[in-house]
Amino acid sequence: MNEITRSQLRDGAWHEASGDGVIELRNPADGTVLARYRAAGREDVEHALEGLHRSARVWARAPLSTRQALLGRIAEEIRVDRDRIARQMTLEMGKPLNESLVEVDTFIGTCRWYQHEAGRAIGEVLPSADGRRTIHTRRKPVGVVLCITPWNFPIALAGYKIFAALAVGNVVVWKPAEQVNGTALLVGEAFRRAGVGAEFALLASATGSLASVGVEDGRVDAVSFTGSTAVGVRIAEQMAPRLAPCSLELGGKNAAVVLADADLTLAADEIVRSAFLTSGQRCTATSRIIAVDEVADELADLVIERMARLRVGGGFTEGVTVGPLATHAQREKVEGAVAAAVAGGARVRAGGQRPADLPDAGAFYAPTLLDRVTPTMPIAREEIFGPVVALLRAGGPQEAFEIADDSDYGLSTAVFTRNLAAAHAAADSLSSGLVYINRGTSAAELGVPFGGTGMSGNGHREVSAHGFEFMTELVSVYVDPGELT
Ligand code: NAP
Repeated sequence: MNEITRSQLRDGAWHEASGDGVIELRNPADGTVLARYRAAGREDVEHALEGLHRSARVWARAPLSTRQALLGRIAEEIRVDRDRIARQMTLEMGKPLNESLVEVDTFIGTCRWYQHEAGRAIGEVLPSADGRRTIHTRRKPVGVVLCITPWNFPIALAGYKIFAALAVGNVVVWKPAEQVNGTALLVGEAFRRAGVGAEFALLASATGSLASVGVEDGRVDAVSFTGSTAVGVRIAEQMAPRLAPCSLELGGKNAAVVLADADLTLAADEIVRSAFLTSGQRCTATSRIIAVDEVADELADLVIERMARLRVGGGFTEGVTVGPLATHAQREKVEGAVAAAVAGGARVRAGGQRPADLPDAGAFYAPTLLDRVTPTMPIAREEIFGPVVALLRAGGPQEAFEIADDSDYGLSTAVFTRNLAAAHAAADSLSSGLVYINRGTSAAELGVPFGGTGMSGNGHREVSAHGFEFMTELVSVYVDPGELT
């Protein structure tokens, strides 16, 4: 298989990657080699940052209509390649094709959303103490933004960052996850056709350690990162000495709290959807069910009944709802976590093994429900990132909410109840960036702030107009009119 070498998009043209290594990608559904890419090298980082640094001031002054027109053309070019991009995503990271298509549509929707949102007023006029002076605020672009994204949502999460940044006049370098390199190259090609120029660079075929070189570079004014908490913490440490901002969207250990008065059928439907979509490889996936004793057994039965209807298999097979894990290493990690939980006293109620009817060359793992999990077990505390959900039992609502909050993470929590007062109290008290009442933990909508607390993030919010807060500097302008002549 030939090595693919032209993977660096800069100044609107493709360039050869300059590194020595080779990145080999395998299809997680059958283990076959999909492609070999020459790795990017330090020279590529240098060229990308040098070009962006030079063009930052020019793009910052580009008329709003120019920025909006570019976003409009990008959305259109992505639409043209919708099916091709979705198929590549399924090949590379395994999610069922219908999920990949939804993701491409989200990417297009985000692009169009920021295209329009860029045209809304993002300053304010403030009263002055002296009564004559006028004061207003302006938002200025921060400059060069390095966007680093994971493999589980290869382009949707990139869209949150790239489009917000470009919309308000930043220049962008995007470092996608290695695992989804081919998907990123297709997106890059659509950007090129749309006429993207010096304001955008794609650092594809790049390892995490090469991204780290970019993070350290003084020409990078801000880093927008989505990925694991461990890497996020490292980026924050690297940026701290120069007080440069970073937006960190990190892991989760999301809970669905089910109270005694809940609609259990609805709760079971939503829990199964949120726990097993994308094979549980979502930052917002439900990985803990916390049910009060009165309803825990009935709920477990309803969940198991619905799990039996899930179909595991290759992402291109009609009717498949749960694809393989993204890599074989990821499956081994999941297997290790389940084995440790069982050794610690948890009981497998469903799944807990590789599906017997699927080839072992695919990284498949059966959707799994673990019962009798206690709050101190690692399976109740650590992010697994696989199709595994743990059931914990609580004596009452108070204890259920305490268990939900007893986590280093704080991304997404669902509460199932018919009691409006309990729902509002939960929304007030839970330490979680996203709270869903009678909806699963995985249900983000475009235009609504997205982000977590604790080790799930550092307080920034994406997707919505709040995304502009990170992507801009706020300047307060005092205008003294002088004497009337
Ligand atoms: P990851 O290992 O942290 O990688 C994320 C990205 O960072 C990849 O592009 C990776 O490159 C790059 N990277 C790795 N080491 C780096 C370093 N030292 N400096 C700079 N960049 C580096 O995470 P992942 O395994 O891809 O993704 C899964 C994680 O993402 C989970 O923890 C999940 O919860 C989290 N996530 C969070 C959200 C959210 O919005 N909160 C959304 C989705 C996923 P390579 O791929 O080349 O290693």
